[in-house]
Amino acid sequence: MSELSLSAVTKSYNKGKPNEVSVLHGVDLSVDRGEVVALVAPSGAGKSTLLHISGLLDTPDSGQVLLGGEELTALSDRRRTAIRRQQIGFIYQFHHLLPEFTAEENIVLPQLANGASRSEASKRALELLGTVGLEERGDHRPAALSGGEQQRVAFCRALANQPRLLLADEPTGNLDPGTSDRVFGALMELVRGTGLSALIATHNLDLAARMDRVVKLDAGRVVPD
Ligand code: ADP
Ligand code: ADP
Repeated sequence: MSELSLSAVTKSYNKGKPNEVSVLHGVDLSVDRGEVVALVAPSGAGKSTLLHISGLLDTPDSGQVLLGGEELTALSDRRRTAIRRQQIGFIYQFHHLLPEFTAEENIVLPQLANGASRSEASKRALELLGTVGLEERGDHRPAALSGGEQQRVAFCRALANQPRLLLADEPTGNLDPGTSDRVFGALMELVRGTGLSALIATHNLDLAARMDRVVKLDAGRVVPD
């Protein structure tokens, strides 16, 4: 059973203009339930575009995007936004935590926006922080945390609303190699513990090898590794 399925997805920027850039030329890609897939692509190959389309932050010019079997490209913006908030977790290279809030509050806020009570949200935040070894750090603001710790908090935030799909763009790309390796281990533990499906873009072939399957984006299409 596919959790995410893209078929024949195409995308150009500046369509019909002299500076048109054709990025995706018929991408077929699926992520099964509970599967962790590595997306490997040279810079400029359209990795971010592909992640944005998968996460309903952008729409393809043609083709289909299914999440949990539901076709998403034709839905209203309002419905797409609701699905994005409830069903998809995002992780970027930089943590994007809110600096004026503590680690715990950064994980609580998306849950409050999704209708959780403060006490439920706080309980879940502390559980997640425990999973990544940061149970003692809940009341620290991001500036008081190391780069690796900030990124682990961002992982917890991405999982706060129990999404069905995790999309990550170079989740440890900002960290030195040793830290990257450990922090990636923490991410895998979180993902495996929840049975979440994930599509994780990385340049790091050692990290890619720790996932279930590697796909490459090449000349606008996805090819098996
Ligand atoms: P990657 O993440 O693999 O580096 P991107 O998906 O960011 O690649 O970009 C793929 C190509 O599309 C690049 O050539 C980039 O310059 C171009 N591109 C990305 N976003 C835009 C945009 N908003 N307008 C025009 N071109 C863009
Ligand atoms: P790294 O080597 O990963 O960049 P740092 O040298 O920034 O780590 O921090 C080392 C440890 O000290 C980390 O556990 C971090 O949480 C803690 N730390 C750093 N700055 C502060 C601070 N202002 N308040 C509390 N703890 C801090």
